[in-house]
Amino acid sequence: MCATQVEVGRAFLDKLVSEHIAGKFLVKECSTAKMWQTEMAQEVVDTCLQFFGGYGYMLEYSVYRAFMDARVAHIFAGANETMRIIVSKQMGL
Ligand SMILES: Cc1cc2nc3c(=O)[nH]c(=O)nc-3n(C[C@H](O)[C@H](O)[C@H](O)COP(=O)(O)OP(=O)(O)OC[C@H]3O[C@@H](n4cnc5c(N)ncnc54)[C@H](O)[C@@H]3O)c2cc1C
Repeated sequence: MCATQVEVGRAFLDKLVSEHIAGKFLVKECSTAKMWQTEMAQEVVDTCLQFFGGYGYMLEYSVYRAFMDARVAHIFAGANETMRIIVSKQMGL
């Protein structure tokens, strides 16, 4: 399941990169991607942390570092709540 989520995320990003290179206006799509990709990454890393059990919660293990990094991605580069506002405005809501 995690591998599938990551593959879908990559395919979505590749599509957006191609469209950006082609000069398309992608504010809604990029905001959707920032929000969805970071929340998907959190889900994937959360599953990985669970797999490691108690070790997954120890700072010495890279999975915990990945967990922290995935969590802050909801906040930086524009909080995901802000991405939701941008997307809803772009949809005319
Ligand atoms: C590790 C890290 C690196 C960073 N690097 C950079 C950088 O290189 N360059 C740069 O310019 N900035 C950088 N930032 C800043 C980052 O872009 C801001 O932290 C981010 O935009 C959120 O702003 P804020 O921290 O002021 O939170 P706020 O905007 O005060 O938000 C606080 C909380 O309220 C929520 N919230 C805010 N507005 C709404 C709303 N309208 N509706 C509902 N909820 C809302 C947010 O989701 C968040 O949970 C970095 C931040 C971090 C943590």
